[in-house]
Amino acid sequence: MSFEEIMTSAAEKCRIEIDRETLKKLCIYKDLLKEWNEKINLTAITDDEGVALKHFADCLLLFKYVDIKSGASLIDVGTGAGFPGLVIAAARSDINVTLLDSTGKKLKAVKDIADNMGLKNVTVLHARAEEAGRSADYRERFDYATARAVAQLNVLCEYCLPLVKVGGNFLAMKGASGEDELAAARGAIKKLGGEYKETRTLHLPGGDTRTLILCKKISQTPTAYPRNGGKIAKSPLK
Ligand code: SAM
Repeated sequence: MSFEEIMTSAAEKCRIEIDRETLKKLCIYKDLLKEWNEKINLTAITDDEGVALKHFADCLLLFKYVDIKSGASLIDVGTGAGFPGLVIAAARSDINVTLLDSTGKKLKAVKDIADNMGLKNVTVLHARAEEAGRSADYRERFDYATARAVAQLNVLCEYCLPLVKVGGNFLAMKGASGEDELAAARGAIKKLGGEYKETRTLHLPGGDTRTLILCKKISQTPTAYPRNGGKIAKSPLK
């Protein structure tokens, strides 16, 4: 089976729609992901079915639950190999996507992949999230922040919520532990100017559980946050 067929079948299993243009871009993404993965460690999932389902379809599932407005700005915190940010950018050329990571070599790969996919709506940002959140250039500048597999939710909130504009949204893509992490992060969400909105639990074909947690930014983040990385790790907000 060609990768296009594998991806189409993964999308059908997840009941998501995928157009031809996006399909073509994801084929380029898959090829270059594998190529770069031989030079630097980007992903443990390298088989076509795994990439289609556990990376691409998993990221595209987000659109089933969140209606991202055209022209919106989105920052993907700890993007790694571009998940979910680069997949979002591939599917929606009308969203401006910033891919942030503290590891420069991953961003070099991601930039190369985005360029080869012909994407004009992607910017890469080499920074620690908590440093970007203290910089006037990025603080409260984004309509959306996303993050997948970066940190526990209470820590992740301090990375992400300072970057979101009042009125914007933070979307955490979590696994089966999402509900427990949310229980431990409710205080952090409030302290950072957020409001918990909703949780969607879904199951990928094959059984993996995904928990999408949506928080709205309802007031400015106090200037004390984000703290530096050491403090965030040592005493996560409660
Ligand atoms: N989001 C991707 C995914 O779902 O495959 C990558 C996940 S990887 C396990 C976590 C990534 O977060 C790494 O690339 C790491 O460099 C980045 N990261 C962790 N803490 C960070 C921070 N404070 N600021 C920026 N990037 C961070």
